[in-house]
Amino acid sequence: MEKIVMVDLPGQYRKIKREIDSAMNKVIETGAFINGPEVKSFRENLRSYLNTAHAITCANGTDALQIALMALDLKKGDEIITTPFTFIATVEAIALLGLKPVFADACPRCFNIDAKAVEKVVTPKTKVILPVHLYGQCANMDAIMEIANRHHLYVVEDAAQSLGSEYTFDNGLVKKAGNIGHIGCTSFFPSKNLGCFGDGGALVTNNPDLAEKMQAITHHGSRVKYYHDMVGVNSRLDTLQAAILDVKLRYLDRFNQARIEAADYYDEALSGIDGLILPKRMSQSTHIFHTYTIKTAARNRDRLKDYLAGRGIPTMIYYPLPMHLQKGYSGYGYREGDFPVAEELCSTVLSLPMHTELKTDQLGHICTAVHDFFKNNAK
Ligand SMILES: *Cc1c(COP(=O)(O)O)cnc(C)c1O
Repeated sequence: MEKIVMVDLPGQYRKIKREIDSAMNKVIETGAFINGPEVKSFRENLRSYLNTAHAITCANGTDALQIALMALDLKKGDEIITTPFTFIATVEAIALLGLKPVFADACPRCFNIDAKAVEKVVTPKTKVILPVHLYGQCANMDAIMEIANRHHLYVVEDAAQSLGSEYTFDNGLVKKAGNIGHIGCTSFFPSKNLGCFGDGGALVTNNPDLAEKMQAITHHGSRVKYYHDMVGVNSRLDTLQAAILDVKLRYLDRFNQARIEAADYYDEALSGIDGLILPKRMSQSTHIFHTYTIKTAARNRDRLKDYLAGRGIPTMIYYPLPMHLQKGYSGYGYREGDFPVAEELCSTVLSLPMHTELKTDQLGHICTAVHDFFKNNAK
């Protein structure tokens, strides 16, 4: 059996090496490292894949979130409703712009923001709802869009972990993650479902004015070279990364399918274990398993992690501390106990190895080890 890893980037590369190498060589030979034709091509292919009117590339997913919020003409102190159970980037973008993160607790089974909790924290200062489609599955966008429409709020989606996942509305309409709200943000960090060989990010929208403005913001707030209509940033996707992503985008559905098949294996092999909760697949969203995240009682979580490590199986905790309890964000005045679901998730979730190259013998070894833990070691 090959060594088990959390994410197997070299293994995936070997499968598409010829295409990737040739795309990279082409960029190197032309020397168009910044804003080369591959950037435009990838932007167009991403736009078309997500079925949006506009796509803008940028340097990473954190920038994408910041650029989205910069484009919305918000004032200092305006409130952005988001989840406390996410990666810090979501909240960092809000804080950096002097906006106020207002948290709505997560849902204990789907891990995404709880729409009922969102409704309760809307105030006259609320301007944006920022749902995160965590672990590969969309948040409850029927309810979130309804609340946003009723209160005239923007919806900015953090689709960094869910590129390719699809949401089916109650009325049957199907949309891809990122193409549901006013702006969708994503990341091409190497381990994401669509990852490059460094950093990368993108924004998508169906609003031409927002698209034009976000494009200008990524380019120092400039529409005409050396004239700056607003304060922007310098946030570009390298041509090399765009060339790699353009190849990998063609494989994204197949890659996501490989993750789903690994998840199917886990679901079946791990079902019926007392004390183990498997990830729930919501009926409204496909799940593309950026992570395969299980839950156990808090007293067993770290013991399970250590036990698996002892059998050569890496695992990760996404995330060990909720956003409202992060030291750097204590200024917002949140306390322990404010978001009990997010806090509980932080002490009970555990992500098993998940990537496109998992082999059946590896999956079997992982599942046997989990069974053994619950038979002999769980408390
Ligand atoms: C990865 C990630 C980001 C940020 O992406 P970077 O490209 O690393 O800046 C933002 N939000 C979530 C939920 C993520 O998982």
